[in-house]
Amino acid sequence: MEARRGFPRRREGIPGPTVPAPRGRLGGPSPRAGTGIANPPRRVYHPARLGAGDFGRRKVTTAAEAYFLDSPGGPLARRAIELAPPGPGEVLVAVGACGLCHTDLGFASGSVPTRHPLPLVLGHEVMGTVTAAGEGQAHLLGRPVLVPAVLPCGDCPFCRAGRGNACPRQRMPGNDVHGGFATHMLVPGAPLVPLDDAPGELDLRRLCVVADAVSTAWQALRRSGAGEGDAVVVVGAGGVGGFAIQVAHALGAHVLACDVQGERLRLMALHGAERTLAVGSVGPKEVRREVKAWLEGLGLATLRLRVLETSGTPEGQLLAYGLLAPAATLVQVGYTPHTVELRLSNLMAFDATVHGTWGCPPQAYPEVLGLIYRRLVALDPFVEEAPMSRLNELLGDMAAHRLTRRMVLDPRR
Ligand SMILES: [Zn+2]
Ligand SMILES: [Zn+2]
Repeated sequence: MEARRGFPRRREGIPGPTVPAPRGRLGGPSPRAGTGIANPPRRVYHPARLGAGDFGRRKVTTAAEAYFLDSPGGPLARRAIELAPPGPGEVLVAVGACGLCHTDLGFASGSVPTRHPLPLVLGHEVMGTVTAAGEGQAHLLGRPVLVPAVLPCGDCPFCRAGRGNACPRQRMPGNDVHGGFATHMLVPGAPLVPLDDAPGELDLRRLCVVADAVSTAWQALRRSGAGEGDAVVVVGAGGVGGFAIQVAHALGAHVLACDVQGERLRLMALHGAERTLAVGSVGPKEVRREVKAWLEGLGLATLRLRVLETSGTPEGQLLAYGLLAPAATLVQVGYTPHTVELRLSNLMAFDATVHGTWGCPPQAYPEVLGLIYRRLVALDPFVEEAPMSRLNELLGDMAAHRLTRRMVLDPRR
């Protein structure tokens, strides 16, 4: 995700198209399936140390393999691990696919620290099949599921208020506990989202990107209050921004997409953006003029304007903030470690609203999935499948901005 949780955590991994890492540090040879793991160190995956319960005395049964980040800067090392049987409330998930997010690059490059000390298995966009269930979770056995990037505790004032994505006791796979760059993972069963009502023609593995990119975009729009006929400006049409454009369009909003990449804007014009603006070649003042003219053309007052900042860059943040106008709303979605200088008094003068947003509560996932099942949000033009054995190479490609689609990684290859 574009990473966050608990208060300090919110600064850490946003999904950002941000956290660049030097190619050289991650571009080492990639381990291949079935090779490179001769005499692997045997590691016991110990859920107790990772906050998933005390199973130290249980018999270890499931042999698995996972890609560990051992030190900042990588590379990720493939090793065998042994998983304890799921304890009460837990399930064992055989990973079908795990998406590669910019936050993984931030963790792997060392620019963003993981909450759990290294070594840690990264990956937080997971779909898979439940192959073993602990007490109380038998109903999930054998079912395909999505593992949300934010796993709330389910029983705190935040969770009870429907704000589980802000739960202080939440766990993020690949940040607080071992993640999905593995053949198997142990997770709490309660937040999992069954996928067995998906249309038959849909490749379930591609749905893994819903666990962060699509659901984060959906939650950001919900936070903005955008609805039918409103005007949504998305600043940064990358992974999360691209899905935000599609979701906003599906909600019946008018969408204007801003990005520095013309090719990306051309793609988004086919998937929900009714207006595109190449920012980079034009300054913030001109963008403001264009947005104002767009609203006037639609006959909408600025009170119907929702701005989503999804670029995760200081320039994008300044641009998005500069688009605020009387009674308009801004939602900050992207992450950058850099600071920007803003005049907060503009909020007072405009009677404007700014929200942060983090992940998505698990109970909202069925609605997000419904948009994909009804073909209102497309995945195929935005994702690409690859063997997980190419993980290190792909992290290098991501650092060098060579990836144009969200990578969906198959742990069996
Ligand atoms: Zn992410
Ligand atoms: Zn909670």
